[in-house]
Amino acid sequence: MDRNQQLFEQAKTIIPGGVNSPVRAFGSVGGIPRFINKAQGAYVWDENRNRYIDYVGSWGPAIVGHAHPEVVEAVCQATENGLSFGAPTENEIRIAEEIRNIMPSMEQIRLVSSGTEATMSAIRLARGFTGRDNIIKFEGCYHGHSDSLLVKAGSGLLTFGQPSSAGVPDDFSRHTLVLPYNDVEALQQTFASKGDSIACVIVEPIAGNMNMIPATVEFVQALRTLTEKHGSVLIYDEVMTGFRVALGGAQSIHGIKPDLTTIGKIIGGGMPVAAFGGRADIMACISPLGAVYQAGTLSGNPVCVAAGIKTLEIIQRSDFYTNLNIHTQELSNGLTAIARQANIPFCSRSIGGMFGFYFTPDLPNCFTDMQNSNLILFKAFFHAMLSHGVALAPSAYEACFVSAAHSSDIIADTLGLATEAFTEIA
Ligand code: PLP
Repeated sequence: MDRNQQLFEQAKTIIPGGVNSPVRAFGSVGGIPRFINKAQGAYVWDENRNRYIDYVGSWGPAIVGHAHPEVVEAVCQATENGLSFGAPTENEIRIAEEIRNIMPSMEQIRLVSSGTEATMSAIRLARGFTGRDNIIKFEGCYHGHSDSLLVKAGSGLLTFGQPSSAGVPDDFSRHTLVLPYNDVEALQQTFASKGDSIACVIVEPIAGNMNMIPATVEFVQALRTLTEKHGSVLIYDEVMTGFRVALGGAQSIHGIKPDLTTIGKIIGGGMPVAAFGGRADIMACISPLGAVYQAGTLSGNPVCVAAGIKTLEIIQRSDFYTNLNIHTQELSNGLTAIARQANIPFCSRSIGGMFGFYFTPDLPNCFTDMQNSNLILFKAFFHAMLSHGVALAPSAYEACFVSAAHSSDIIADTLGLATEAFTEIA
């Protein structure tokens, strides 16, 4: 038994499923998850001393590369002054101002420690602000694991959701309406019949949780127009896309000003920081100013905020996104070309430092399209790449990430290994 296997067996005796977040368990691809003990630049190393070119990037945060020396130094410096104060600090103002400079729609900002907290709080705020209960989410979009967002999509144009997790009372989820992604007609019909009861619409503007499906221009425009018309709050969940698809997130690409935005991952530079923010009149409803309660012992933790400030500084250096875009496109186009040569039905797309690939003949546009992708080929490709030293997200429904540390040489290495992998699975 190798060391990854040994540790996995041991972990399962004390941690449910051996992991502290389900997708890490390789549940949908099978096999033994790699126990990682080091990450540097574009690489991670496992307990068997195998090195992998890493396209998981800690599920998004590692945009400047793992353990960037400047970020590590900022963290070390911050620890010298203490680890947590539970009191306001100057750096919280600095990071909030920096975020607002980058995403001007976030007029007021509250820091939290996870994306789940950010979306959960934004929804509570939208409900408190509007005095309404119903929310709309879209099939295939993930917004963290709070009760009202863990709702399975049903069939038909409008489904009052059923909880997709045990432990969520029907009463909690019956206020969550689940609609198909990129379906303007379904959205129009729902607003026509229920518009005045809808507190908010929460959307992944480029959905990374069904392997990167961008919202169409028509869909985005309908979201903005209909929410405005009916007095509902539009929440852009940019926990994944913020600072990832472009410096200013998907909203800067769409030219849309959402009412509220949630961010996370990159703003902590690998440490737990997330935030929600938006229109000042809505944000004024939060405690201690308003009646919507929200709090956190470790919110705005000084060590985490130091990592975030440094990361935000690095990503604003010249050509950061130009290079990121080029390298991600090299990878995405390269994979497609190699797969086509091997006669494998395969598509890929990328925006900024995010890419998705699919074992489908045509690019998918919604969750149903993704469900029709060839999961057997995905699984085979995932394992072939892993055995060649390339770590991809262990699920066909997850996007992958490129960092500033993924040079053209590393991308070329990856494509060389992919050529072997595609040949093996063809
Ligand atoms: N929203 C989106 C779009 C996400 O991708 C995620 C996590 O991947 C979350 C929210 C939840 O964030 P966290 O895992 O930090 O709670």
